[in-house]
Amino acid sequence: MVSYKELGLVNTREMFAKAINGGYAIPAFNFNNMEQLQAIIKASAETKSPVILQVSKGARNYANQTLLRYMAQGAVEYAKELGWEHPQICLHLDHGDTFEVCKSCVDFGFSSVMIDGSSLPYEENIALTKKVVEYAHQYDVTVEAELGVLAGVEDDVQAEESHYTKPEEVIDFATRTGCDSLAISIGTSHGAYKFKPEQCTRDPKTGKLVPPPLAFDVLDAIMEKLPGFPIVLHGSSSVPQEYVDIINTHGGKMPDAVGIPEEQLRKAAKSAVCKINIDSDSRLAFTAAVRKVFVEKPGEFDPRKYCGPARDEMTKLYKHKIIEVLGSDGKAE
Ligand SMILES: [Zn+2]
Repeated sequence: MVSYKELGLVNTREMFAKAINGGYAIPAFNFNNMEQLQAIIKASAETKSPVILQVSKGARNYANQTLLRYMAQGAVEYAKELGWEHPQICLHLDHGDTFEVCKSCVDFGFSSVMIDGSSLPYEENIALTKKVVEYAHQYDVTVEAELGVLAGVEDDVQAEESHYTKPEEVIDFATRTGCDSLAISIGTSHGAYKFKPEQCTRDPKTGKLVPPPLAFDVLDAIMEKLPGFPIVLHGSSSVPQEYVDIINTHGGKMPDAVGIPEEQLRKAAKSAVCKINIDSDSRLAFTAAVRKVFVEKPGEFDPRKYCGPARDEMTKLYKHKIIEVLGSDGKAE
């Protein structure tokens, strides 16, 4: 048993309370390799933004859960070296699907876990979430739950269709489970292909796809039922067109990739939405930078010469999200 507190990590409780009161959101960035973690920590340290490092099932399979935890521990020390005196870093399990995996993360130094019972029938979701909450809270680890179904594909999480969260269920769910935050479905979606072209309209000038707007009426109804309760948005990458264009002009093929427009996330960040998950955008930044090097310098074979530029591009992206979209800069001095 290792407590996250010994590792210098923090849970989400205070972060979320401050974010709701301050009208901003905490970035939750997924990581599964060193360059990505360096970029996240550098961007957070330079902007003094609290940050949530997320580990998905896919990341655990790819990089090993043990190694990822030690990397997060190293990240705290790295942040201090960068001059961030009191880093506010949370290590969070993304989409935990069983009690056992959540327990193993709590026991191993994670400061926050998500139990995703959203694909289960309502009562089973409550029972599973409650069990995880009862265990995690003994160690002051915070728990995110999910109600409603997001469409799209993210590692092992996938669903054909989305089902918006039902506002009439949220009070009962939050009260009976005791969860600390709630991921809801209001039209965000996992992956880089969030919407099918037929769900979108086309901008007559650019010919680019314009996605359907998020269901802010559902968010408003949820906030009315649970005033001040921390709300989480998954699947909130914006799929920056400049990265898609670089990928497509450097040997890639990503037609009709589309995400959530940043102005909608900016609006959400000012509400009770206090955690916004971003994964695909950093994958695009990485891939665009690597493809560019491969095309421009075909003789290059030192991975540092293409992973380095990829890391710089991700750092730029994370800082942009923190400062221009979520407004979390300067909130962890
Ligand atoms: Zn997710």
